[in-house]
Amino acid sequence: MTTHSSKPVAVITGGARGIGLAIGKWFLANGYCIALLDIDQQTLSKTEAALALKEEVLCLHCDVSKPEQVDAAVAQIDAKYGRIDALINNAGVAVFKPIGQTTFAEWRHVLSTNLDGTFLCSQACVPLMLKGKGGSIVNIASISGLRASTLRVAYGTSKAALIQLTKQQAVELGSVGIRVNVIAPGPVDTDMAKLVHSVAIRSDYYDTIPLNRYGTTEEIAQVAGFLCSAAASYVNGQVLAVDGGFEATGVGLP
Ligand code: NAD
Repeated sequence: MTTHSSKPVAVITGGARGIGLAIGKWFLANGYCIALLDIDQQTLSKTEAALALKEEVLCLHCDVSKPEQVDAAVAQIDAKYGRIDALINNAGVAVFKPIGQTTFAEWRHVLSTNLDGTFLCSQACVPLMLKGKGGSIVNIASISGLRASTLRVAYGTSKAALIQLTKQQAVELGSVGIRVNVIAPGPVDTDMAKLVHSVAIRSDYYDTIPLNRYGTTEEIAQVAGFLCSAAASYVNGQVLAVDGGFEATGVGLP
């Protein structure tokens, strides 16, 4: 039987580690129950054990690019909490290669995770948001969606499309009480950054970012939290670069 949580509920995709986990912790610390969806069962189980909060945390194995898995996860969230107030579409993968070296399988993997995943999770969560008072969706894109570079044909294209998807969602859902915004992080020290940022990319970023450092996962989480809060009640359809000033420099991506 569906129960109805008295606390607001935030759903975070790719929540087992990195930026997604930091966002989950922000919502927990601010009085929400959270549902963390992730494809990586092993890391998800470790995160679930570390958080050790049975009532406030639901960890669900889910590949966000698979419609049936997304629907099943949202059905479990409905059964446990009966509501969704915030959705953070954070799950993402990166392949840093030029066009000539990117295989079609890599292209599809990046597009289906970063773009289809956001489409599917939003489509599945919105009806539950609308059963309540509406809510807020935050998509996590990247400054790679704002600038072209030689290594990011799949990743940059997926993130640019995510920015346009955000605007489409904001226009369509604003009138029914759901605000939708997108964060474009600069480089943040996570497993993904360790995997795809070569020593050369790291050093170029340090030289070109006005704050001379990578961001932290908490610095992205605070902005996601702000966008879902009443303090941002008139913010809709916006792209917010959280990048230490990199975008403002006009310098090309490393
Ligand atoms: P990460 O690799 O540390 O975490 C990503 C999480 O998403 C992982 O837990 C992974 O298992 C999960 N995931 C991957 N594919 C999935 C799928 N199909 N279904 C469900 N979960 C899936 O990466 P991160 O650095 O924390 O990145 C989080 C988001 O921030 C991504 O969308 C990424 O593109 C974006 N971003 C990261 C940086 C950076 O420098 N780290 C910069 C800009 C944008």
